[in-house]
Amino acid sequence: MPRTNCHYILDAQAVVRSGDSAEDLHSARTAPPVLREAAEIVNSMVKERQGRVADQLQAGDLDGWASSYALANRYAGRDESVAPHTDKLTALGRRPVIASLSLGACRTFRVTRAPEEFLHEVPKAARVTPHPTSGTTRINLTFRKLKPHVAAAMPRCNCGRLAALKACVQRLRHGGTRHVYYLACDPSKGDTGCAFRRWDV
Ligand SMILES: [Zn+2]
Repeated sequence: MPRTNCHYILDAQAVVRSGDSAEDLHSARTAPPVLREAAEIVNSMVKERQGRVADQLQAGDLDGWASSYALANRYAGRDESVAPHTDKLTALGRRPVIASLSLGACRTFRVTRAPEEFLHEVPKAARVTPHPTSGTTRINLTFRKLKPHVAAAMPRCNCGRLAALKACVQRLRHGGTRHVYYLACDPSKGDTGCAFRRWDV
């Protein structure tokens, strides 16, 4: 069974400036005060850690990271799960900082390496130990920063949609691997889109 989810906006201006790349957020809810409070704590925790990982961050993350929205995923019981997938990076840019806060029951978060990409999932559980407050429900909040300047530079595919930015793993001829990025058509459910695909260098 799929989990249920909801987007909560923390920075409405950033959503407007991100245009089509943030279309998942166009019908999102405004973050309630308690979530804003949590976001402030998360923002300051990210800032504290920024110096230590500065070499791994993109320029947009160094000039003061603050979350623009939160994605809430709710897993109500052991059958609710999310299949292995990668996140689209169009609205977030390369190597985005994503801060994750989990509440309630413990669930497994699994990262696997497919031939070309890293996938993540929350698999179905054999059993879930009930949490004193939430029972078998787990809620995961991920706080993300929109990068409207990245979205503004994104090309359109042959069918006129904003291309999706994705990461994949490339095997090097002399051994080892590196992360590379590509742009591809981003079809909506139920249509196959076009063949647009190119490396983002
Ligand atoms: Zn297309």
